[in-house]
Amino acid sequence: MDKVTFLGSGGGRIVVAHQLRSTAGFIINLGNKQIHVDPGPGALIRCSACKINPTRTNIIFVSHGHIDHVNDVNAIIDAMTLGGARGKKGALISTKEVIMGNRVRTPWINSFYKNLLESCFQVKAGDVVKSGNLEFTISGTKHDEPCVGFILSDGSARIGYTADTAYFAELGKQFKNVDLLILNVLRPGKDKWGTHLSSEDVLRIIKKATPELAIIQHFGAKMLKSDPVYEARWIQKETGIRTIAATDGLSIGLRKKD
Ligand SMILES: [Zn+2]
Ligand SMILES: [Zn+2]
Repeated sequence: MDKVTFLGSGGGRIVVAHQLRSTAGFIINLGNKQIHVDPGPGALIRCSACKINPTRTNIIFVSHGHIDHVNDVNAIIDAMTLGGARGKKGALISTKEVIMGNRVRTPWINSFYKNLLESCFQVKAGDVVKSGNLEFTISGTKHDEPCVGFILSDGSARIGYTADTAYFAELGKQFKNVDLLILNVLRPGKDKWGTHLSSEDVLRIIKKATPELAIIQHFGAKMLKSDPVYEARWIQKETGIRTIAATDGLSIGLRKKD
């Protein structure tokens, strides 16, 4: 069944440290492909809890090199390839900084696991990655670490993911008319932050993007305190677009257009 499963719905340092919400990323099952997006701390244990089989993973998408998005990437490659017992398998899509490292960090993907991948795509905004009948159009962000989102299409369903980003004018336009838009919203209401979205930013984005459904997730501590359910209701009331606050383990079916 085509679906999106939120292994976790938390993000940001305090939520990661105390696991107020899990930070294991989300899984997209589309066609016969399984995509693990942003495998942060707890990815394997949350796969087990949510009855997701990590050995069936085909594609891993890591938006950027912050620990709540990338920490368990090698563990997921190990599960996907059974430590190399199946030979090379699967694809990784991520930034140059995650794959190659930068001035202050060694590569997140260690060389043993990189060699087990069938393909490793180093991407930036505007790139298009094709894998079978799936197409990822890489979207841009404004964050304190090079970071990318995507619009994923199988020719029928279109799923957008903002990844971590502050608001900028072009953000909504990138996700025009997706069926489902997943937004990382760390702060409630009008609480502005130079590197992340608030609920008020989401209003502006989804008014432009007009998705069929918006799901907010990756909640920081302040967002959890003010209750994401109320934030989602406010966004829905203001925009007229159906909006859901993710919970750990939430699974949403993807309705395909005929
Ligand atoms: Zn994050
Ligand atoms: Zn980040």
